[in-house]
Amino acid sequence: MKFDSSAAFNEKRYEAIRSREVAGGDAFFYAVVTTGVYCRPGCGSRTPNRENVLFFDTPQHAEQQGYRPCRKCRPELKRGSEVHEKIIVKACRRLEQDEAYPMLETLAREAGLSPTYFHRLFKKIVGITPRQYYLKQRTDRLRRKLVDGDDVGTAIYSAGFSSLSGAYNQNEDRLAMTPKKFQQGGDDEQIWYGFSSCYLGIVLVAATDRGICAVELGDSEEQVYSHLHNQFPKAEIKPGDPDFEQLIKAVVDHIDNPSQKFDLPLDIQGTSFQQKVWKALCTIKPGNTSTYSVIAEKIGKPAAVRAVAGACAANKIAVLIPCHRILTKDKKISGYRWGRGRKRLILKKEKQ
Ligand SMILES: [Zn+2]
Repeated sequence: MKFDSSAAFNEKRYEAIRSREVAGGDAFFYAVVTTGVYCRPGCGSRTPNRENVLFFDTPQHAEQQGYRPCRKCRPELKRGSEVHEKIIVKACRRLEQDEAYPMLETLAREAGLSPTYFHRLFKKIVGITPRQYYLKQRTDRLRRKLVDGDDVGTAIYSAGFSSLSGAYNQNEDRLAMTPKKFQQGGDDEQIWYGFSSCYLGIVLVAATDRGICAVELGDSEEQVYSHLHNQFPKAEIKPGDPDFEQLIKAVVDHIDNPSQKFDLPLDIQGTSFQQKVWKALCTIKPGNTSTYSVIAEKIGKPAAVRAVAGACAANKIAVLIPCHRILTKDKKISGYRWGRGRKRLILKKEKQ
């Protein structure tokens, strides 16, 4: 491209600097006379005043005039050059291994670039943002671990899921697919389970590779296991290995201390209506109660009170999805799948 150095053209280039437009690519470079530094358009540094800016066609031209390359946008490196690629590939390797998302600032510092420029360069070379790349890796990691035969509880822990809401958001796409699977009774699904006991009796915790899919309460291991089997008649149900204990312990700890936040992902398999109801139940805080009609209103279906009651009754994840916090309009304890006596005990504990 040949450059027209007319004033109008330079105004356009200055506009590109101001808007931090990267589309211009290596179309031109600009130097700031007050700092002695030259940049490429898209650089994250402060926009210089128009009167201090000079334009150059190539980095060489800028350097011949005595300007130094900016440390943030590295204009001396050819865009998409090997050096840039190496920097980004290194960041990718790091994102693939990290348990938690490192701050953008940290990644950029390690790459020797400004956060803004690093972010843009990453997106340009990889096609997605560093955070998106990290999230994708985390999901792939979980899948790989499960293929390798790692226990599901360990896999969920070590794949770095950090919050219930995070898991919901992350799983939105997949949740849209689950109703069908649910209808089929967990066809082709692998489910791991284990038992423990707590003040409510025997607890069974079951999980798929996506998260906890059932928490059953009962008087004996046989009883809770048959509940699980009835819920997922077509799934391949197998005992979790010793690491699964971690997951069970987290559930029991939460049952014992309901005010503590529960951070592990739930695999809430149900129709989208049921999922809406269950998510609404999760917004009732421990110690509080609600009614079917309030939940019906909350999900924007005030007339669907009966259907809401049905969805509550279909909840497979005792305590973690707190359907026990639903009372009758006159604040009486209504039916509970795991027994009214247990419902009373849970509510009493949550009041403490
Ligand atoms: Zn710069």
